Amino acid sequence: MSNPATYAEGPFTAITSKLNEYEGNAVVNVYLVEGGTENALIDTGIHSGYKDIQKVLTDKGIGYGDIKYVLNSHEHMDHVGNNAAVVRDYGAKIGTHPKYKDWVANNQLNAEMLVHRFEEGKSWDLQQEYLSWMGPESAPVDFEIEDGDKVEVGNVRLDIVGLPGHSLAEVGFHHADSNILIVLDLLLLPNDVVIYLHEDPDITLASHAKLSQFIRENGVQTVLSAHGQPCSAEEAIAWSNECADRVRNIAASVLRNIREAPGIGFVELRDVVCEEFGKSKEWRALITINGHVESLLRKGLIVTQGNGWAVA
Ligand SMILES: [Zn+2]
Ligand SMILES: [Zn+2]
Repeated sequence: MSNPATYAEGPFTAITSKLNEYEGNAVVNVYLVEGGTENALIDTGIHSGYKDIQKVLTDKGIGYGDIKYVLNSHEHMDHVGNNAAVVRDYGAKIGTHPKYKDWVANNQLNAEMLVHRFEEGKSWDLQQEYLSWMGPESAPVDFEIEDGDKVEVGNVRLDIVGLPGHSLAEVGFHHADSNILIVLDLLLLPNDVVIYLHEDPDITLASHAKLSQFIRENGVQTVLSAHGQPCSAEEAIAWSNECADRVRNIAASVLRNIREAPGIGFVELRDVVCEEFGKSKEWRALITINGHVESLLRKGLIVTQGNGWAVA
């Protein structure tokens, strides 16, 4: 990708924290939105990155009462980890999508609904896998943000763009005045140790199509993301297409493995698919594989057989 310095930043400042090696040595970006008289944060990152956020805010003279909103893109731990700290230290109100707002407001529930969603994931430790990424406190949700909503932060008007799939509650943020679109985890990097996480493949593919169309129709010039570098409209569309190909490749693998081993069960299916793509056999992959199985059942391409599935 091109030098990030060549991209417009508009009213946004990326605050970047390093993730651990398990996440492919990637980063997570939180975005400070400066609207003149008011400020907001898009996401709050991970617990260990809070010092990075505090440093940027302190350098800019932003203190208690100066962050009006936290706008959460979705419920995952690397995006909501400092919600309670930002409420405590800056007096922010928390806005998130209604679908999983109860999870955003309760770290323990959030961890259980992700890591322990399925019986087969219950051997994974909530503290290690999820809770340790977040601060010790949870913060209540104050308002909801959904596709089509507008949020004003001083002189910055953000349009909320629903981009569900990775999480069914995910939203992006469009700033028409600077032609910048912030897309969070719909765009993930291919070298992640973890298989491309999506709750529902069909909804994910629809969001990728929507994203490309939105970029073209609205004249978006710069796309900012949670775990990658800033990129141009054309780069973002290529990245989105590559993510959509990953979804289709996983779908093809799931169907082929069910055809080759009639009656194959959930964990075995997760393992063979992850092996095929060189990904970690863990709890997030259960969510992705489950989404594909449900999609294939809906389409009548597979049926249940014993404790697993076979082609129809
Ligand atoms: Zn996520
Ligand atoms: Zn993320």
